Amino acid sequence: MLSPTLQKAINEQIKNELYSAYLYLAMSAHFEAANLPGFARWTRLQAKEEVEHAMRFFDFVNDRGGRVQLLAIDQPPTEFGSPLQVFEQILEHEQKVTALIHRLYKQALDEGDYPTQVMLHWFIDEQVEEEKSASLIVEQLRMVEGHQGALLHLDRHVGKREEEEEEEE
Ligand code: FE
Repeated sequence: MLSPTLQKAINEQIKNELYSAYLYLAMSAHFEAANLPGFARWTRLQAKEEVEHAMRFFDFVNDRGGRVQLLAIDQPPTEFGSPLQVFEQILEHEQKVTALIHRLYKQALDEGDYPTQVMLHWFIDEQVEEEKSASLIVEQLRMVEGHQGALLHLDRHVGKREEEEEEEE
């Protein structure tokens, strides 16, 4: 059984993951409007992944005999600025999510809840990847700053991101 405090914290994280999905979708709409279909596709795929993250927590709460409670999701911004500014916001957002995951892990450690710790290992690895891919694009956007042709090339390149396979149970 999940402790009530851990259940509350994981329910909070379900909401955080769904907010991430909302944020990436808003960014995708921004890139669509800015005629940058590659970045639009990348952020859209990212939104889909965030829903999958939420579902991992959702399933975990149920598997542990807990009760999922869906909390209100904040409205994301509509204006984001230049592609570089958007990806800087993405990196900053993912760093915040990493801190949240680490805080959850600390809580599971303090409570001696081993299954929650094991479940969170996947997320700890995932956040390393999320920060890595966001900071790579931030660096590449810094390189192309002021060069429209290079920006369009990068947009096309980033848009080739492969869709992740759904994990087998
Ligand atoms: Fe996530």
